[in-house]
Amino acid sequence: EETAAKEAAASGAASKGGPTIFDKIISKQIPATIIYEDDTSLAFRDINPQAPVHFLVIPKHVDGLTQLSKSEPRHEQLLGHLLFIAGKVAKQEGLDQGFRVVINDGAQGCQSVYHLHLHIMGGRQLTWPPG
Ligand code: IMP
Repeated sequence: EETAAKEAAASGAASKGGPTIFDKIISKQIPATIIYEDDTSLAFRDINPQAPVHFLVIPKHVDGLTQLSKSEPRHEQLLGHLLFIAGKVAKQEGLDQGFRVVINDGAQGCQSVYHLHLHIMGGRQLTWPPG
């Protein structure tokens, strides 16, 4: 509905389909501050940080949570791996007082880049609930 659409637009939310800017980060066509990388995942600093520490963890080879939730068993393992890496890099980043992990999915979730990504934010006292 109209309010939701406005909210999505205001947040910079985009629509689904096609390659995203994150594919160019994966292929190193555009620069990013990469803080962790392995065969299936990549972690890099968010370009517009919402906390003193704000990084993203993305899968290298699959685009969406819905896509990942539908198909093969190895996807279940990959989803677990992304969360595992989120915790590992959070520790590497010194977030020993706590942090938050967020996935914005779809229009109502205010997703703006349609390639699955976990936001990890910390380094200050966060509040709850988000908007
Ligand atoms: P979403 O709203 O959950 O889809 O979040 C997308 C995130 O990607 C936002 O926090 C953006 O700041 C971040 N972002 C967009 N483009 C880049 C980039 O080129 N490098 C790093 N982060 C980016």
